[in-house]
Amino acid sequence: MMRAVLLRMSRSRFLERQVTRRRFARRAVRRFMPAESLDGALEAGLKLQRRGMGVVLTLLGENVSDGAEAEAVACHYVLALDRIAALAMDGEISVKPSQLGLDLGPAEARRYLDPIIAEADHLRIMVWLDMEDASYVDRTLELARYARERTSRIGVCLQACLHRTPEDLAGLMESRTRVRLVKGAYRESANRSMQRKAEVDERFRELARRMLADGHYTAAANPVFGTHDDRLIERIRDVAGQHHVPSAHYEFHLLYGIRADLQEWLTANGAHVSVLISYGEKWFPWYMRRLAERPANVWFALKHLARSQPSMTGVGAPP
Ligand SMILES: Cc1cc2nc3c(=O)[nH]c(=O)nc-3n(C[C@H](O)[C@H](O)[C@H](O)COP(=O)(O)OP(=O)(O)OC[C@H]3O[C@@H](n4cnc5c(N)ncnc54)[C@H](O)[C@@H]3O)c2cc1C
Repeated sequence: MMRAVLLRMSRSRFLERQVTRRRFARRAVRRFMPAESLDGALEAGLKLQRRGMGVVLTLLGENVSDGAEAEAVACHYVLALDRIAALAMDGEISVKPSQLGLDLGPAEARRYLDPIIAEADHLRIMVWLDMEDASYVDRTLELARYARERTSRIGVCLQACLHRTPEDLAGLMESRTRVRLVKGAYRESANRSMQRKAEVDERFRELARRMLADGHYTAAANPVFGTHDDRLIERIRDVAGQHHVPSAHYEFHLLYGIRADLQEWLTANGAHVSVLISYGEKWFPWYMRRLAERPANVWFALKHLARSQPSMTGVGAPP
């Protein structure tokens, strides 16, 4: 119920305007986002790299409906790739197709993706395509196919919750395209998506098993499991062991600020771990999805709100 409300709120432009200017909200967001600037994100990335982890950078923003804005996003990502290379970071980028103008049409999105994949291919850096709500899946997979014909340094996110995902995964495995499997962060109807968490977890396990059981696929396309679910991660590691998949042939990606203990533990225990760092000013819908994933986060945000209220006692209390 709370999840549904938060996901509905994430789409409200009115709330976005109200919330993003509040100082308490900006402070609460810091838990999941080290900085709004690329420089700040790179600095946080370097710290993680010193602890043995890779980094995936993502500029927040979605549903861009203006070509000039999509072009600016593309220029930004080319700059981010250059900065990753200049710092010799173990870094990658992850892009939302709707931020590259997918709503304007497939040709526009391809046009803005082109300079990104050209630079990434040149610098040997991976580009990931995020998966947005179910209405974007066909168009995102089409964009991934287009990019895959031009470079192997492209991967796409699939959401375990969607009924269609086993079939989509089969197609991507066939073309040896890299996949980042996640549970799915959007609210979807029952005809498109499983509604029960236990079912989604089971489906995630099954899809992970399919990828790990195919040695040719793991060797060519290092699958990525994007989750903080420690029981699921343990299961994936077991299955990888059963199929003799070396730890260099699959990866775990986790979000900045979530289960840092697990990130450290996995790294110390030989797993290939990368941390996805989000940055930018357009954090509202993304932040609301993080709250929806774990409603306890709402209390954390409210604590910041309470702290930001003027004290009613002691120094500074109104007369
Ligand atoms: C690298 C990465 C990329 C992603 N990309 C996409 C994408 O492109 N499209 C998409 O739809 N979704 C994406 N997601 C989000 C994903 O779909 C899930 O919504 C999210 O990962 C929560 O599910 P979980 O697998 O961590 O498992 P859950 O069962 O939800 O959580 C397991 C445990 O992780 C911790 N946890 C999980 N979420 C939070 C949180 N927000 N705050 C605090 N603790 C938390 C809790 O301890 C929880 O018990 C991505 C996730 C990751 C890690």
